Amino acid sequence: MNTSRRDPDCIFCKIIEGRIPCSKVYEDDLVLAFLDINPLAEGHTLVIPKDHVTLITDMSAERAAEFFERVPRLAQAVKEATASDGMNLLQSNGRCAGQVIDHVHIHLIPRTTGDSLGFRWKATTYGDGRVDEVLRKIVEKISR
Ligand code: 5GP
Ligand code: ZN
Repeated sequence: MNTSRRDPDCIFCKIIEGRIPCSKVYEDDLVLAFLDINPLAEGHTLVIPKDHVTLITDMSAERAAEFFERVPRLAQAVKEATASDGMNLLQSNGRCAGQVIDHVHIHLIPRTTGDSLGFRWKATTYGDGRVDEVLRKIVEKISR
């Protein structure tokens, strides 16, 4: 029995249901992987859970574990098939982070030495005492 949640307006749910075509890489009862329609590199693949969830923080620990369990094998296959040197895994949450499709997905982006893709975020440093404050708040949330 299929008990997956779907959003009728979600593009990725429509892909899962076969209402929008995709170039399917892999499918099982919980996960679908397909080629991104606008790839950053050949073989750029999206891995999605079949349950419609918007953010990674919406996933139960069990569903997240099952979802991520598939990723190393898929990433390895994409890496070998594209003869790439490495790979970026990108998982965006929220518009501010660049999420456009509100259905959890991991990008597998093959990388080749010297490719012109780039990926450099401007790193910063903590101001006086700030690291302890931030650390305390996060640790508090984890242990609640
Ligand atoms: P986001 O910006 O939300 O992390 O990434 C969404 C990704 O989904 C984009 O890279 C975009 O190219 C891809 N995408 C959007 N619509 C479709 C579609 O209909 N089919 C496929 N295969 N990919 C899509
Ligand atoms: Zn969806």
